[in-house]
Amino acid sequence: MQQELAALLAVQADDLEIHVIEEQLAALQPRLKELDQRKARIAADVERSQVVVAAEEKKQAFLREKIAEHKGLIDRNQAQMDAVKTMRQATAAVTQMEEARRIVATEESELVAINRRLDEARATWHAHQAALEACTVEQAEARTEVASQQASLDGALSVMRAKRADKAVHVPAPLLGKYDRIRIRRRSQAAWPVNGMACGACDTAIPMQRRNQMSNGGGIDVCEACGVLMYFAE
Ligand SMILES: [Zn+2]
Repeated sequence: MQQELAALLAVQADDLEIHVIEEQLAALQPRLKELDQRKARIAADVERSQVVVAAEEKKQAFLREKIAEHKGLIDRNQAQMDAVKTMRQATAAVTQMEEARRIVATEESELVAINRRLDEARATWHAHQAALEACTVEQAEARTEVASQQASLDGALSVMRAKRADKAVHVPAPLLGKYDRIRIRRRSQAAWPVNGMACGACDTAIPMQRRNQMSNGGGIDVCEACGVLMYFAE
């Protein structure tokens, strides 16, 4: 019985170390997530500003086309002017031309506004692109550090798991199974030394008879209150 207990406690010692390494590994995840989220936010800024630039470019192209079209109209009116025969025809041609010139003037002032907005949109876009590049450079070091910590913890974990597997063969299968179920359920220490007259984990008093059984035979019992394995420490 004492041998079984000693073998189980050796396994547990490794499990507690494994648990610490697993927690250290889990603690790296929020750091990675934070890096990813920050980068994703800046990438979204880049994308949004790019959409604004594209929209202004489209408006600019459309307006340039309209201006060319209306200037063509003015040219045609000009040509008609030279060919008019009557005063009425001349007046009509002048009116048309003036109308087209007004339209072109309005469109050109719109174009000036669009050009200005486009300059601003491009500047914003380039600023976001620069921020994304800066973020990538800035994060490279942090990501390398996280990756190297992860690799070293992964290495330590596989060494500990191999050690644990070697020790686990010395624990009888039913006891090991029971211990593992408790350990996994509690996600922490499964076997606890009796503390005075009480369970070491939850401090609930243990009936005298069960305590005597444990202390006499070096046995392992289950706490009725919290479900951990209990034993008498030498
Ligand atoms: Zn307990």
